[in-house]
Amino acid sequence: MLVAGNWKMYKRPAEAGEFCRALREADLGTVDVVVCPPYVSLSEAVAALAMTEIGVAAQNVHWADEGAFTGEVSAPMLRELGVYGTIVGHSERRQYFGETDETVVQRIAAAVKHGLHVIACVGETEAEREAGETEAVLRRQVGAIRDGIVDVDDLVIAYEPVWAIGTGKTATPEIAQEAHALVKSILAVPVLYGGSVKPENAAELAAQPDVDGALVGGASLDVESFATICREASI
Ligand code: PEP
Repeated sequence: MLVAGNWKMYKRPAEAGEFCRALREADLGTVDVVVCPPYVSLSEAVAALAMTEIGVAAQNVHWADEGAFTGEVSAPMLRELGVYGTIVGHSERRQYFGETDETVVQRIAAAVKHGLHVIACVGETEAEREAGETEAVLRRQVGAIRDGIVDVDDLVIAYEPVWAIGTGKTATPEIAQEAHALVKSILAVPVLYGGSVKPENAAELAAQPDVDGALVGGASLDVESFATICREASI
């Protein structure tokens, strides 16, 4: 069971250090724990969590090792900071920054090549769910990853229905279970659930047979709430 906190564009370096020092002292149950700060706060997080089991991952990575790509950060750069992995293909990247299934695959391939663990995000929008297209969307998104990535040992998928992200509308455990089973039938890797995971719903989601953890946004920004989610998911 893995619980990852996606901080999005929150927490400057000093706040990140403070949060991570508090997290070291918290009771996190028995799950594997990862935090994903913004790029500028990665070093502080790595330093504050040194000699612990808590991993630090980025929120994105470029596919080239270096080059004329203003504003981007590469896998070797992240490795040199002591970063353990990265999120790729978050719906906010797909929605606001033109991320496509093709660029998601390129980013995953580069990350894996350089030894980063990857949390690759997939999920349907509300309109797609209402139009009965959820299965087709997941088949397309996960199929692209399956067809483009040979080494999936360090890859997990996060099923994050876009309508549940930051909206307070969590998928029911049944909806999550059905989607996770579908994802695993396409690509046999662990699948995290993401979308308004909170201390109150973490246990019932984690209890589903094909839910292997959680990717948590808003509720990961507070140490007590994040720690409670980790404990609740410890089954
Ligand atoms: C996310 O950003 O990956 C996420 C799931 O956000 P939230 O938990 O706030 O819905």
